Amino acid sequence: MSKPAADLNAFQNTAKTGKKNAASSGGGWIKPYKRLAIYLRDGLSCVYCGATPDALSNRKPVTLTLDHLLPQSYGGSNGEGNLVTCCLYCNSKRGNMDLAAWLDVACGDDARRVSALIVEHTALDLKPFKAEAKAMIARRVK
Ligand SMILES: [Zn+2]
Repeated sequence: MSKPAADLNAFQNTAKTGKKNAASSGGGWIKPYKRLAIYLRDGLSCVYCGATPDALSNRKPVTLTLDHLLPQSYGGSNGEGNLVTCCLYCNSKRGNMDLAAWLDVACGDDARRVSALIVEHTALDLKPFKAEAKAMIARRVK
């Protein structure tokens, strides 16, 4: 088993709210522009397997979701630093699995590189992505 990146431990401490959040099922727990901003921050691609939505890839198209790095059942927050873009397949497969264990399962030898990427993405300021997301939503046909 490969050793997960040590910096994920520091990250996981900041992701904790200390309280359990309301159920996250359904889409109402996060504003659409914030969801889109996180997707944009992560390059419209699953951080674990790299899958992208239809029309953006020659690979099998997927549905994007948001994954809580520190699962809500362990006190993980709905804050942008605890959320990453994740395909529906990876999200379902991970369930409540610990992040380091999940990275081993999902990424194998790439676990360290992927965890570094996650740390890099979640450290980015979401503000410009939120602005772009709001502008994109405003341009949609009503
Ligand atoms: Zn995936």
